[in-house]
Amino acid sequence: MKNIAVIGAGTMGNGIAHVFAHSGFEVTLIDVQDSALERALGTIGKNLDRLIKKEKISEADKAATLNRIVTSTDIASGVVNADLAIEAATERTDLKLRIFQQLDAAAPSDCILASNTSSISITKIAAATNRPGQVIGMHFMNPVPIMKLVEVIRGFSTTDATCAAVMTLSQQLGKIPVEVNDYPGFVANRILMPMINEAIITLHEGVAEVEAIDTVMKLGMAHPMGPLQLADFIGLDVCLSILEVLHNGLGNPKYAPCPLLVNMVTAGHLGAKSGQGFYIHTPGSKELAVSPFFA
Ligand code: NAD
Repeated sequence: MKNIAVIGAGTMGNGIAHVFAHSGFEVTLIDVQDSALERALGTIGKNLDRLIKKEKISEADKAATLNRIVTSTDIASGVVNADLAIEAATERTDLKLRIFQQLDAAAPSDCILASNTSSISITKIAAATNRPGQVIGMHFMNPVPIMKLVEVIRGFSTTDATCAAVMTLSQQLGKIPVEVNDYPGFVANRILMPMINEAIITLHEGVAEVEAIDTVMKLGMAHPMGPLQLADFIGLDVCLSILEVLHNGLGNPKYAPCPLLVNMVTAGHLGAKSGQGFYIHTPGSKELAVSPFFA
């Protein structure tokens, strides 16, 4: 594989473009918004500067990496030479199905189509194309240049050849791929989200306060961050939507989202991105204070 198309230039798309270009692949980064493409190139430049400061790469490596990335606002022309197209657009089923139909129509017949979705069924996405055997999940973690894991998700129809190609490709990026099957939440979110939900239930039932819950999990389980703080970083709306996917898809009441989480999302307390969740988040500051709603 040589040519990679990345669709969606947001948080994940810019990281995915970064790691592919840094590993020597030619990348076409595609978004519907010019502003997202400009922001993405700026972010990749800054992240490469950080690696120069840490003496992990040279100025020449930075220039070569950026030279391997071109941008486009048109999916059809952006994927004509792609060996792999990886979609990291907004998490909406209707949007992903439309993008995969476009990719299927425009990409070469041997191109593998991957999605970075956190929660949408790969089997469903694959069924929107005429090449379901070549559709797969490639679930990178945030921040992509730092996190080693790629959860490789086999849809119901994904072929062994597609899976093997994506496992090898992930290793070429210096990542560690893990193969899992396509069921709601895959593995990462099926285990993480119930833990976060249980932390919120524990708060809601008054068992302990915000900082106490996070401290127990940090110091007791050696987690780098407590579950409530992590939920704030992921986005409480994202946590709620993944829990709904687990609850609806697996039909087990144990996945029912905590009513406190539902209320917080309804009230617009979404975590770091809205400035307030279980904690108050001030841009540019690493200080964390518990939200007055829980203090
Ligand atoms: P984001 O909102 O930061 O970026 C999404 C980008 O997609 C935006 O720039 C938007 O303009 C673009 N987009 C929307 N419609 C498009 C279209 N038709 N064609 C091309 N681009 C389009 O989102 P994100 O956080 O980067 O998430 C992207 C995907 O990655 C989602 O499926 C999400 O579930 C998954 N994911 C996110 C994280 C995370 O921590 N943020 C982690 C793992 C996986």
